[in-house]
Amino acid sequence: MTETPAQPLQIPVHPPIFGKLIVFAAPSGAGKTTLVRHVLAVMGNHIAFSVSATTRKQRANEINGKDYYFISHPEFVQKIENNEFLEWQEVYDGNFYGTLKSEIERIWQQGKAVIFDVDVEGAFNIKNIYPQNTLTVFVKPPSIKAIRERLIGRNSETNEMLEKRVEKAVFELQFETRFDIVLLNDKIDEAKAKALEIVSGFLQHKPEMP
Ligand code: ADP
Ligand code: 5GP
Repeated sequence: MTETPAQPLQIPVHPPIFGKLIVFAAPSGAGKTTLVRHVLAVMGNHIAFSVSATTRKQRANEINGKDYYFISHPEFVQKIENNEFLEWQEVYDGNFYGTLKSEIERIWQQGKAVIFDVDVEGAFNIKNIYPQNTLTVFVKPPSIKAIRERLIGRNSETNEMLEKRVEKAVFELQFETRFDIVLLNDKIDEAKAKALEIVSGFLQHKPEMP
């Protein structure tokens, strides 16, 4: 896969972008991390990433505090008890992931919109909590075969985890019609351009006055 370097972009954002939330969800391997990173590289002046907490193992290319807060299972449970999560899920057996309320507050304090990379259920939960201000984007892979190939190419999973992710992908693909927008990630450059178009369109959209 060849990637085009991101060019910083100053989009004419009509205020307020304050309070806006953009949720990217997709089956594992569909390419949402790649697309979210691209949006952030181009539009980082206006948007920041909600860093989730997780109990899963850190991958070699991941940075603690940037990609995730990698924490232990007891620490995760403690945060649930302290009511620190906006939402959380056991996305894969034994692997917990959660959106921290403090992340959203931190980003809103910077006057930026928040972008999330969560699973399908997490996306619906965030939309339920902030129905007016949230855009949900489903990143759709061209096929299950492509998901499998991309996960193999990413070389991040054991065989067992790969099968679990493919199995869950088949399940999650049923939910695309419940998203605000479906973004097909077939050719990466086209998908990146489309992701920017979707996000900048949403940021420029003025919410209706009550
Ligand atoms: P996700 O976050 O949805 O699990 P990633 O963004 O990590 O997915 O992408 C999974 C793998 O597929 C990565 O190795 C990524 O470089 C690759 N990839 C992403 N989009 C495409 C695409 N359109 N064509 C081919 N490979 C892709
Ligand atoms: P991965 O292990 O590939 O980084 O992520 C596995 C899945 O967990 C992905 O679908 C990802 O979007 C999801 N995920 C990551 N963070 C969160 C979170 O905070 N909440 C929820 N519900 N899902 C998350």
